[in-house]
Amino acid sequence: LAVDMETIRKQLPVWVEVSRPHAAHGKVASYIPELSKAPADALGVTILTKDGESASAGDCGMRFTLQSISKVFTLILALMDHGEDEVFSKVGMEPTGDNFNSMLKLELVRPGIPFNPLINAGAITVSSFIRGRDPKEKSERILQFFKDLTGNPGLDYDLQVYRSESETGNLNRSIAYFLKENGVLSGDVEEVLDVYFRHCAILADCSDLARMGLVLAHNGVDPMTGQTLIPRRYVQIAKTFMTTCGMYNASGEFAIQVGLPAKSGVSGGILSLVPGYCGIGVVGPALNDKGNSQAGVHLMEHMSRELDWSMF
Ligand code: GLN
Repeated sequence: LAVDMETIRKQLPVWVEVSRPHAAHGKVASYIPELSKAPADALGVTILTKDGESASAGDCGMRFTLQSISKVFTLILALMDHGEDEVFSKVGMEPTGDNFNSMLKLELVRPGIPFNPLINAGAITVSSFIRGRDPKEKSERILQFFKDLTGNPGLDYDLQVYRSESETGNLNRSIAYFLKENGVLSGDVEEVLDVYFRHCAILADCSDLARMGLVLAHNGVDPMTGQTLIPRRYVQIAKTFMTTCGMYNASGEFAIQVGLPAKSGVSGGILSLVPGYCGIGVVGPALNDKGNSQAGVHLMEHMSRELDWSMF
């Protein structure tokens, strides 16, 4: 990397303020009622390198729920629990070009399995693959995995967001029952949904995202502890899905403008990474029409250009 951390630390607050006004073109998600309380003009970022150096700016201390960002790591846990063959017999590997909560192709395309693990249909299916005696144990294993990945033992749920989604998530319920009907989902549908809604409601901040990104940037080894948290092959799979599907139907444009693996969530978070170098956490709750953080994507584009981050 051409630019040192000192320069990044100096520039980062400037770049955040350049991107922040773009939030005005976006809208905070409200289909999960509790999410609508987030501040629309917030924007924060944390970058964390393998040497433990970090740079943060803006509203980096703001906490938000992981939402779809969690899908990358539940996929990894499902792969660790069951292996590639089993998981990918029920979830595909292709981008959709549709919205993240679309049911369209479940019906239209044979054999009726979700296109990929990062859209809702795929992530709900992945939730059914997490090992555990009951939903409680499955959710505990997921939360523990996130605690290990972030090095943050205090990580917990936002129960208000969890309840809010659980009470209003009719579309996800329809998707799940449809998958059950097609034999894609096994087990009790409501129990699978409970596991899914819970991991979407895990609270984190930009530094938690950056730390998780760093583990992916280092092929599954946490550079802070030297511990291997994820087998390299599953990191490879996760990063590939992030590149092809992580920003939903804006993944192609993001690959061109930013050129890094990334995953967005509907509460405005973006987790990204520069392979071999750093993890990146961004939050900006106002979303664009594809469901990605409006100012957050602008900031990622700006940083990538300035720091020459593209992998391609
Ligand atoms: N929990 C959200 C949902 O299922 C996650 C979606 C997202 O972050 N894009 O709708």
